[in-house]
Amino acid sequence: MKQRNRRPPREVWQQTRERIWQRDQGRCQGPYCQEQAIGSLPLKQAHIDHIVELSSGGRHGDENLRTLCRGCHTLRASPAHRGMISGALREGVIPADWRSLVWEG
Ligand SMILES: [Zn+2]
Repeated sequence: MKQRNRRPPREVWQQTRERIWQRDQGRCQGPYCQEQAIGSLPLKQAHIDHIVELSSGGRHGDENLRTLCRGCHTLRASPAHRGMISGALREGVIPADWRSLVWEG
């Protein structure tokens, strides 16, 4: 079971990233960007998010992946994302009152 959740080899993951990014037309699928009809992200800046987290049994299949920007990814409620908060705060990617912006889904 553990095996299944192991991150794929880097080359495979790079291809997956690009495929998901193209499928999503480079657009962040997060709630804040959906509201604002924000433009597309460069592939390098796109975050590929596991909709069902790996820790909850989520898979690496395309149907479980989506494109997010760094801000939406950081603000998604998930213990796995907590590590991104301090850097994002420092760099102004998320505001000081980020706690009220945390989203689920
Ligand atoms: Zn976003």
